[in-house]
Amino acid sequence: MNQPTDTITFLGTAGARVMVASQILASGGLWLDFGGTEILLDPGPGTLVQATKRKLKATKLKAIILSHRHLDHSGDVNIMIEAMTEGGFHKRGTLFAPRDALDEDPVVLHYLRPYLEHIEVLKEGGSYNISDVSFQTPLRHRHPVETYGIAFKTPRHTISCLVDTRYFDELCLHYKTDLLIINVVRLESGGPFDHLSAPEAGNIIKSLQPKVAILNHFGMTMWRAKPWEVAKRLSDEAGILVIAARDGMRFDLSELD
Ligand SMILES: [Zn+2]
Repeated sequence: MNQPTDTITFLGTAGARVMVASQILASGGLWLDFGGTEILLDPGPGTLVQATKRKLKATKLKAIILSHRHLDHSGDVNIMIEAMTEGGFHKRGTLFAPRDALDEDPVVLHYLRPYLEHIEVLKEGGSYNISDVSFQTPLRHRHPVETYGIAFKTPRHTISCLVDTRYFDELCLHYKTDLLIINVVRLESGGPFDHLSAPEAGNIIKSLQPKVAILNHFGMTMWRAKPWEVAKRLSDEAGILVIAARDGMRFDLSELD
């Protein structure tokens, strides 16, 4: 039998409204395959199309996680629940989401909820399990809606997904993992934006010292600056391998070993 491996497929790298609405970049979130435990994180618009194009099977998913309810992270959550459960004929899987994605002005339709095996509410400081994968939501991020970053632990690796947020110092304390995936919407710091910029991401990477950092979720200013060039610059500054995610990129975590 083959050794179990951990892989991450980027079903989209677009961040924020303009990039998502124009589909200059896709917006399908991350498909995690941790030794056969398949998890979908932040199914933005187009996830179903991007996944089926890459022969990823929704029926294999054990869980869908929403870091927050913004549309670029949740637009396809309902169709992915339907696909995972084969239209509700096979009750299956767990949905993890913040309370405000489920209660007020919910992004998850009520008629689909009984199709799921469980719904778990994400909270600051929470710990959760999906088969032999565990994850924590150490911090509530500074973002207009309830938002949590995710730190995963598989039997082989640790992975953080540092999702949308305004910069604050505690971000540099809670996501110490082998691999850091960080949402970098903006090229420059400053202004009234609840998103990280490239210099802020650089500081976080230097503090957390992951083996590899992957930039993701690009807004227009990052895209115009060519994310792979920004990544190269941050890599040189931090002395850590920083790469820019690409639509469809599959990252195999055995590259970290
Ligand atoms: Zn957001």
